[in-house]
Amino acid sequence: MNEVIVIGAGAAGILAALTAASQGAAVRLFEKNDIVGKKMGITGKGRCNLTNTCSMTEFIAHTPGHGKFLYSAYEQFTNRDLLDQLNSWGLATKEERGGRVFPQSDSAVEVRKFLYYKLRDLGVRIHLQDSVRAVYVREDGRMAVCTASGTYEGDACIITTGGMSYPVTGSTGDGYGFASSLGHTVTELKPSLIPFVTAEIWPHTLSGMSLRNVEGSLWKQGKKQAAYFGEMLFTHFGVSGPIILMLSSDAAHKKKCVFPMQLRINLKPALSAATLDQRIQRDFQKYIRKETENAMKDLLPQRLIPVVLEQAGIDGHVPANQITKLQRQDLAGTMQALCLTVTGTRPLEEAIVTAGGVHVKEIDPKTMESKRVPNLYFAGEVIDIDAFTGGYNLQAAFSTGYVAGKAAAVKERESCEK
Ligand SMILES: Cc1cc2nc3c(=O)[nH]c(=O)nc-3n(C[C@H](O)[C@H](O)[C@H](O)COP(=O)(O)OP(=O)(O)OC[C@H]3O[C@@H](n4cnc5c(N)ncnc54)[C@H](O)[C@@H]3O)c2cc1C
Repeated sequence: MNEVIVIGAGAAGILAALTAASQGAAVRLFEKNDIVGKKMGITGKGRCNLTNTCSMTEFIAHTPGHGKFLYSAYEQFTNRDLLDQLNSWGLATKEERGGRVFPQSDSAVEVRKFLYYKLRDLGVRIHLQDSVRAVYVREDGRMAVCTASGTYEGDACIITTGGMSYPVTGSTGDGYGFASSLGHTVTELKPSLIPFVTAEIWPHTLSGMSLRNVEGSLWKQGKKQAAYFGEMLFTHFGVSGPIILMLSSDAAHKKKCVFPMQLRINLKPALSAATLDQRIQRDFQKYIRKETENAMKDLLPQRLIPVVLEQAGIDGHVPANQITKLQRQDLAGTMQALCLTVTGTRPLEEAIVTAGGVHVKEIDPKTMESKRVPNLYFAGEVIDIDAFTGGYNLQAAFSTGYVAGKAAAVKERESCEK
């Protein structure tokens, strides 16, 4: 019988093992934790954003880290294929805002447990608490792994050890070492989907405050590098929230995005400078006898007003009717470009995904097989791929896991028949 070894029981490894087993291969799945899918169990704030209903072209657009490498994997195993598979096995799902798909139960832990039972149903031999220490090619061309419990051989080996973020979930980057030892290039590892640390301390004092419908843009040497519209959050170290996480992805990928960088927050992105000026004039007229900081209460969240006034160089205690036209224009300008100095990101361990990994040019995108070592495959975050939030990262892991599992099992069957 064909034998496939899978290293790492995350989203990619589980799909690879399930797919190889359903193709008739004998599969051993090694996992260092005492459960499968530990990281999956904390995804989507505990609800597991499994995938997205958008088109596969949009998937690629939402994948700044080598999205095009995923064309073939997405053709072979789409978001629809994933949902059909899960639904037919009995895991109900639901679609939410932005096309995000979650399990009906809202429980990531349920998904993890469900997939564990499915692996057992399909006869996958699951080695829990059995960390793989080395991977090598035997003289006869078969693959071998040394684990905590012994040495095992297979016709193929699929490395699905994930990235380097959230190491408590088991993703400690072991796969990069295996890949390097087998002659692969591992590109620079960087945090992506990660909050920013700022030089200024005023965001710390606003910790917990979120802003909606704002635009955040990253600037380097006076040039805009990236911008997103949506929600952000002040924290005890700087800034976070959806648009900041997206900007961090640009920071991980764009050569010109080198820290320190300037973050500009447009608090009124829907208004032109002239319309905003009129709006400020109206409010100052309405609260004519009040101090400027009190005259702005309809314009901005209360705690943000002193910050904006300070950046605009205006004394908030001055009565609103004494503010000059020039000062008002400075105020509008600051409201549309509140500046922060981003000194860096939080550490890689805190990132949602790792940018960088096994070089995509060394992997066949149609099979996920190594171009350097026959019968060696990669899937999931260990590869140099990473996407935005919205279910894109899990789908990338599922799709590449499916392709690797199928190709490993099919190739073996062909070679056995020869
Ligand atoms: C907090 C958080 C929330 C997220 N939410 C979402 C979300 O809702 N939707 C989404 O699409 N993406 C989300 N992601 C990203 C997504 O979880 C990952 O991209 C995805 O899990 C990667 O899957 P993977 O199988 O490649 O790796 P992992 O899930 O990291 O799995 C790798 C597995 O390999 C095991 N392993 C490692 N080394 C060895 C070894 N030497 N021997 C044996 N086993 C080993 C690890 O223990 C681990 O179980 C989130 C990430 C985080 C951190």
